[in-house]
Amino acid sequence: MGIPIILMQHVDKCYSLDGVEVQALRGVDLTVDSGEFVAIMGPSGSGKSTLMNVIGCLDLPDSGTYTLNGEDVTALGGDALARVRNRTIGFVFQSFNLLPRTSAVENVEMPLIYAGIAKQGRRQRAQVLMESLGLTDRMNHMPSQLSGGQQQRVAIARALVNRPPILLADEPTGNLDSRSGEEVMNILEELNRRDGVTIVLITHEPEIAKRADRMLTLRDGRLEG
Ligand code: ADP
Ligand code: MG
Repeated sequence: MGIPIILMQHVDKCYSLDGVEVQALRGVDLTVDSGEFVAIMGPSGSGKSTLMNVIGCLDLPDSGTYTLNGEDVTALGGDALARVRNRTIGFVFQSFNLLPRTSAVENVEMPLIYAGIAKQGRRQRAQVLMESLGLTDRMNHMPSQLSGGQQQRVAIARALVNRPPILLADEPTGNLDSRSGEEVMNILEELNRRDGVTIVLITHEPEIAKRADRMLTLRDGRLEG
């Protein structure tokens, strides 16, 4: 094996709110190899979103080390951290987080604007990806005109349009009925198996987590195999 794509050692993360300290992550060790599909489970409040924020470089650990795709990200400042994030990680959230007054295809193209890709190339890349996700006849719909499952597929297309090696999904099926949830899981599985995208899936549902190759559990800020 090469270097793990995610290598986290002894990570702590503490929040303080109104003088009360909450230790959200306690000595977390996490190793994910390139091409793996890992599920992280845990009850509400166990630290799942905090861990996702650290994995996704939206937040830094208080202590410990984090090496992402061979780069020590704990040593990076804001701009450098954002660049590593943009080229390495695609995010999918429970609440889809699409821009409401922007068509589906424009939502998908958005990250390519920041990546400096010209207009024609943007449209073409977004279209190919949306076609592969069964959204051919939904490109010009507004998010409010789409079902939850369709919105999440648009969000997955947006997360992947920059071709990041890692997809990080926080409760991606949490707002979906079981059939749409199943569809989204089929898509994640295919992206992993066919395209080799490394997937870290965060969920509190055992049925969803079972679809991954490996399951880890957070309890009270501690990660257990
Ligand atoms: P989960 O996603 O598993 O529900 P979180 O990572 O959101 O858990 O939260 C872990 C713990 O940290 C909880 O006790 C939560 O109340 C606390 N917490 C999360 N975010 C903040 C914050 N911004 N400020 C203060 N406490 C926080
Ligand atoms: Mg959460």
